[in-house]
Amino acid sequence: MATLTDWFYDLFNFIRPRTCAVCGASLNATEQKLCGSCLLELPYIGCEDFYDNPSARLFWGRIPVERACSFMHYHHDAESHNLLVSLKYRHRPDLGAWLGRLMARELLPRGFFEGIDCIVAVPLHWQRHWQRGYNQSRELARGLSKATGIPLLRRAVVRARNNKSQTRMSTAERMQNTQQLFQARMSLAGRHVLLVDDVLTTGATLSACAQAILDVSPDVRISILTLARA
Ligand SMILES: [Zn+2]
Repeated sequence: MATLTDWFYDLFNFIRPRTCAVCGASLNATEQKLCGSCLLELPYIGCEDFYDNPSARLFWGRIPVERACSFMHYHHDAESHNLLVSLKYRHRPDLGAWLGRLMARELLPRGFFEGIDCIVAVPLHWQRHWQRGYNQSRELARGLSKATGIPLLRRAVVRARNNKSQTRMSTAERMQNTQQLFQARMSLAGRHVLLVDDVLTTGATLSACAQAILDVSPDVRISILTLARA
């Protein structure tokens, strides 16, 4: 016999059908943002070593990074790409917080968050934030903060310029484009900060953000977590 919960679920689903953010299939009552098979088949990276891996290596010789991890691969032509497009461009801030919790569930038992004092999301320029209505990296950070209990600092860093899209830029051009891009607004001296972003490509944006923090607080420790790595 159908329970009251089932009945409400059917009614809500009739009014606003819930679909998988990757394949678009209808979700059943137990599935949240992705259907079971898409959740199973996401291109997870399964980072073994938080100190030496392809994400961490992108920062070597640029900024001192303690631990670094990216959660999944970013394949432009794969179906999983829909997830990142939805998070960024289809007004799905709810996906960010959910993915943040998913990352925390995977990484918490493995000690990734040990000793981390605070979480800082790579900020958007206020104009872009206003246009989009949210910052997808902050939504990820919000989910991480909720699941780990580590506080999220919302105003620690600001993006000083609305920089050009970096999609077609070389690494050198990205480095140039990100110089003085961020400003730290508070001292994080002596703290271990987790910097969070959606996609890691060359590491130029995250390095610039970390550098802004280091300029104000030279003895800060920095770890990095991104949802995806290109
Ligand atoms: Zn699916």
